[in-house]
Amino acid sequence: MSERYSKEKKVGEGTYAVVYLGKQLETGRNIAIKEIKTGGFKDGLDMSAIREVKYLQEMSHENIIELVDVFSTKDNLNLVLEFLPSDLEVILNNKKITILPSDIKSWMLMTLRGLHHCHRNSILHRDLKPNNLLISPTGYLKIADFGLARSLGTPNENLTSNVVTRWYRAPELLFGARHYTVAVDMWAVGIIFAEMMLRTPYLPGKDDLDQITVTIQALGTPTEDNWPGVSTLPGYNNLTVFPKPSRNELRNRFPAATESALDLMNSMTVLDPSKRFDTTKALLSKYFTESPSPTDPQELAEKTNKRD
Ligand code: ADP
Repeated sequence: MSERYSKEKKVGEGTYAVVYLGKQLETGRNIAIKEIKTGGFKDGLDMSAIREVKYLQEMSHENIIELVDVFSTKDNLNLVLEFLPSDLEVILNNKKITILPSDIKSWMLMTLRGLHHCHRNSILHRDLKPNNLLISPTGYLKIADFGLARSLGTPNENLTSNVVTRWYRAPELLFGARHYTVAVDMWAVGIIFAEMMLRTPYLPGKDDLDQITVTIQALGTPTEDNWPGVSTLPGYNNLTVFPKPSRNELRNRFPAATESALDLMNSMTVLDPSKRFDTTKALLSKYFTESPSPTDPQELAEKTNKRD
């Protein structure tokens, strides 16, 4: 244990780490210690830790979790992170919290700003989901869990398509693409946007095959017409052709959404990744300038902090 931090109690357990609440002794600041077991490391596990450290060290942004420090003990690698007591999944599941359109706009803005910073630094997150969008005590949303992140630097390198938690997985990944772009993160944000409005997961596939069915039923079937080249992807088979949902159908699905909110969601969930919005286009969309304006983080904090 480093003498600079105290470790107080366990607050969570991830795929390869245990997370504790702790304190930075010098300042009294709350921190999270993510303890990664290095003892019995097998391939892959250690890479997650290395990636998380590498990418977080490269980035500093108010909508990305801050890596405060890294230290090692005999058996563990410890990441010291800012302590973020809640996440968007917890908030969406807590039916005692009333979520307004302006709150959703604020979370979308913070998510896209954080993601814009990742993408500008050529970092793909590859695992965006409500549970990885953490919320600070002051209402700031911060993108966390960079264990699956990858650098975009090398265009011809094969990437694994087994990324992004199933419900948020873009169609190119469902069809096994080995070359993909920032568009996979944009898809995930579009699906999270839908989930915020519905307050229930939008495309909850039961397994990988079902995920394709659920996705094409909701958003239409990719074909050579709407996505040139799709039939060359390794996992693409002849699929039942479902039409793209009509505007009216979308209005019925999201009765509270404005026309600009639907436009933005549509543009982030275009089947063909080359036609999908990037963070710049999304941030410039009319949705963010029309009324209501995004809720102030401080105001968001007041409603999310008193959730229990
Ligand atoms: P995953 O569940 O995606 O594997 P992590 O390994 O990053 O996530 O974290 C496991 C759990 O620990 C999270 O679900 C969350 O409850 C908690 N946690 C992670 N990071 C923090 C943090 N910075 N502050 C507070 N709690 C955290």
